[in-house]
Amino acid sequence: RMKTAFVSTVSHELRTPLTAIKGYLEGLMDGVLTADPETYQQIHTEINRLQRLVNDLQELSQLESGAFQLEVKEVSPSTLLDTIQSNFANQFEEKNLQLVVEIKPNLPQILVDKDRIIQVLTNLVGNSLQYTPGNGKVVIKVLRENSNLLFSVSDTGIGISAEQLPNIFNRFYRTDKSRARASGGSGIGLTIAKALVQAHQGRIWAISDGEGKGSTFTFSIPIRK
Ligand code: ADP
Repeated sequence: RMKTAFVSTVSHELRTPLTAIKGYLEGLMDGVLTADPETYQQIHTEINRLQRLVNDLQELSQLESGAFQLEVKEVSPSTLLDTIQSNFANQFEEKNLQLVVEIKPNLPQILVDKDRIIQVLTNLVGNSLQYTPGNGKVVIKVLRENSNLLFSVSDTGIGISAEQLPNIFNRFYRTDKSRARASGGSGIGLTIAKALVQAHQGRIWAISDGEGKGSTFTFSIPIRK
């Protein structure tokens, strides 16, 4: 039954951009739409969405089937955050959002697959960027708690209601479907992040004081001795 439900959701998710692309093309063929840059841009946007969705699905299926290997090495948390900061600098500036990084001093290195943890951070920071209106602020913190490092990403964005919080790590879940769809979210990013964190024996969770009150996503990575 779960498999049927999954196939049905995927079909639905694929149909939405396909229907839009077909609509634009038919409009062009009938002469209802003019062949101007704006129309092509709209088609391009829908194709991007389709591509992102297919990429995310492939990634998710690899993660869920266990058909992937972590390439673990010792990494310092500051190296990870330097990468994130430079990858996102432009996008934050464009949206006039502040990106602040706070790393506690003398943190130990962790044994992780660097690219995968960067992907987790990218998904979280990318969401904060997407769901925080201009002039807001995103803070990334790293600290030690017992035998774990905790990475957290807090924003001053749209927040998440208490009823929706338990669902956001589920595949395809979006809190405000139209809003997320308008911005092209597939609802898979957090599912992928969770699978990657769990593959590192960590945990991931979210808290929010409610709609309009920002969100904080935190994940733990065990420190091995
Ligand atoms: P999407 O691609 O839609 O962002 P995700 O799996 O990354 O998919 O997130 C699932 C949903 O959780 C989003 O559609 C959004 O409704 C909600 N969400 C995720 N991050 C945030 C955030 N920082 N602030 C508010 N809502 C968020």
